Amino acid sequence: MAQDYYEILGVPKNASTQDIKKAYRKLAIKYHPDKNPGNKEAEEKFKQVSDAYQVLSDDEKRAAYDRYGPEAFQPGGAAGAGGMGGMGGFRDASDIFREFFGSMGGGMGGFESFFGGMGGRESAADPDAPQRGSDLRIEISISLEEAASGVDKTIRYSRLATCKTCGGFGTEKRSSKKTCPTCKGKGHVMSSSGFIRFTQECPKCGGKGYVIEEPCKTCGGVGLVREKTETVIKIPSGVYTGSRLRKAGAGNAGENGGPAGDLYVAIEVRESNIFERDGDDLWINMPIKFTLAALGGTIEVKTLTGKASLKIPAGTQTGTVFRIKGQGMPKLRGGANGDEYVKVHVEVPKSLNAEQKKKLEEFAKACGDDAPAAEPSFFKRLFS
Ligand SMILES: [Zn+2]
Ligand SMILES: [Zn+2]
Repeated sequence: MAQDYYEILGVPKNASTQDIKKAYRKLAIKYHPDKNPGNKEAEEKFKQVSDAYQVLSDDEKRAAYDRYGPEAFQPGGAAGAGGMGGMGGFRDASDIFREFFGSMGGGMGGFESFFGGMGGRESAADPDAPQRGSDLRIEISISLEEAASGVDKTIRYSRLATCKTCGGFGTEKRSSKKTCPTCKGKGHVMSSSGFIRFTQECPKCGGKGYVIEEPCKTCGGVGLVREKTETVIKIPSGVYTGSRLRKAGAGNAGENGGPAGDLYVAIEVRESNIFERDGDDLWINMPIKFTLAALGGTIEVKTLTGKASLKIPAGTQTGTVFRIKGQGMPKLRGGANGDEYVKVHVEVPKSLNAEQKKKLEEFAKACGDDAPAAEPSFFKRLFS
């Protein structure tokens, strides 16, 4: 059973385009799937209001709807392939939504941030409507030490900026912007193919609804120019590879005085040749002398901020891991730092001088071991 589009949007039959837009905006936000996760009923409502808006917001489609009724507009409905539903005019509900509210900017952020940047051009008939600039993405690479301490990075990049010559209007003189003679400012024109009539983007003005007789010489009528710029990004301590930061308003300039888009900075933390990162913990490999391992002592270990001394107990084996509390990475959202883990590797001397050899042979004898010191099993037994 086809439902009445006016009823779905809750507007009277003689509602103005503006009222229809308003009603759609309210309902689309209310029923958007991001706001109603898993709610089938909301999803269905969202589809219905999108379908209704798609038809009632278009003068031609609305006229046809008023004349032929809802049945003709049901995809695959009674009118079949020849009906309006079979015209291929129906798009996905989320497409309509996106068109209405402007780009989501590649899926950045959730529902709220999406609406924070709302303000896409609502229709081709309103070419002077402010339009938000698009977002930009940049990747930067920092060292592990910088990730630990946090760092201010100056980023140089290029973006679209409002043309200073024409103030973004695109015209040499403000008055040289004329309503497009082909589409009379609507931005679209009607075409027909046999029985079926459909609208298409105006070929003369490209959907803008106006033509510029004297385009600005600096920007060629676009109103925007590419510029090299730089900005400082505050990178907080504890970031990871894949962390993303947003700098509001540092993206491309908007059209017709609309706000600029945002700049998103993706962080890559380079691998250190000293530390291995495991979440907020750091691992380091430390070679220690076999005598130190046997007798015990203190060693100095590199930390992110300098050095720490570490006590090695007598009889330490290769592979033993020691923990230095709090010497790991700071946590991105605050709280105690991670720890530093030191994995020791006992180094056996590759060669011995005569005196060293003699002493070790004596040591071997003291252990009740008759085998010559050079035999591998000696070191094996002692240090493995
Ligand atoms: Zn210009
Ligand atoms: Zn036109």
